[in-house]
Amino acid sequence: MTPPPNPSTSPDMLKQRLESRLAQQREDDLWRERLIMSPNPRAPLRDFASNDYLGLARDPRVAEAQAEGARQEGAGAGASHLVNGHLPAHHALEERLAELTGRPRALLFSTGYMANLGVLQTLCSGDTRVFQDRLNHASLIDGARLANAPSRRFHHRDMTDLDRLMSRAPRDQARLVASDGVFSMDGDMADVEGLAATCQRHGAWLMIDDAHGVGVLGENGAGLVGQRFSTHQVPVLVGTLGKALGSFGAFVAGDDVLIEALTQFARPYIYTTAQPPGVARATLRALDISEQEPERRERLHAHIARFRQVAETLGLPLMDSITPIQPILLGSNQRVLRWNQALREAGFMVGAIRHPTVPRGMARLRIVLNAQQEWTDIQALLDVLAELRYREAQAS
Ligand SMILES: *Cc1c(COP(=O)(O)O)cnc(C)c1O
Repeated sequence: MTPPPNPSTSPDMLKQRLESRLAQQREDDLWRERLIMSPNPRAPLRDFASNDYLGLARDPRVAEAQAEGARQEGAGAGASHLVNGHLPAHHALEERLAELTGRPRALLFSTGYMANLGVLQTLCSGDTRVFQDRLNHASLIDGARLANAPSRRFHHRDMTDLDRLMSRAPRDQARLVASDGVFSMDGDMADVEGLAATCQRHGAWLMIDDAHGVGVLGENGAGLVGQRFSTHQVPVLVGTLGKALGSFGAFVAGDDVLIEALTQFARPYIYTTAQPPGVARATLRALDISEQEPERRERLHAHIARFRQVAETLGLPLMDSITPIQPILLGSNQRVLRWNQALREAGFMVGAIRHPTVPRGMARLRIVLNAQQEWTDIQALLDVLAELRYREAQAS
């Protein structure tokens, strides 16, 4: 017999709660929408939103490597790495990534989000103090939270503030400083040298999440950190494979102790199926192309320089970025949605970034440049932005 409903609780509290949160989300202009991006639409939107910086996600050679990998090693890995899902493709990719970044070893994860959870969980057992840049990616924030580690946030790129926070922390606690390499919503870069020096002074480990640097920056696309900073300076290096490399997955690179500890203890590594081997083959092919065709990076960086120069003459509110991420800071959610709509109508796809991805009042268009774009398309985008700015100035 089912017991009678308890009259003191409403019949469907969870549903009511969700409905009221959804209504609030709409009211605050924070509603997020998915578009179905058909691969061959009749009127394609020009892509200024994806993180496919080198144009490798739709390169037929990368796709073919994925298909061939699936034929040779299977459509799926079938199990986690520690059971019997660790296949030759995965192992070859780990060795390749260690070599690219100049680290003794690398370990594959299924996504960057999971890599960050895995690292923080493994390093934060006990009473580790975590120090994070205010603007760090959500996965770093969530990683510390899920590890139950007290996180202190320092002002963006402010070494004095970090130094002050670390000086105050109890001396007997292990310390980890975590920072994005390239900040994903701002496009500016961490002061890795300053971070490394501050960490050495306070006996802390430094973790850099180079999701947007790998493939884009450095010799051969080694990233902001790879080959430039030693494993001693940056003991924990995270990179993702779904951005410039156009594939999927992520890795952590470092010394033997770190990689062994992650293999033994990182739950997001242990309790999940290994990525499909074809995906690893696709990433290996993308790495070949990234190294053999440096002109992709050169073209991208030429686009960035020219975009900034023109945008500056047009008086557009640029941010301090020399990376492919070129946000236009507009402030209010409404203004971002208005500009975004106008760009959409003109045939451009950009990101409309609002709270909680960025702080309130700092909403922005996230314009992303890539090596596949033609300058005429970038110029056309700038023309629309200039027109929007002009119309607003006229109206006020
Ligand atoms: C995209 C991103 C991640 C997450 O990587 P996924 O592979 O997409 O899960 C982590 N950190 C930063 C800084 C990112 O930009």
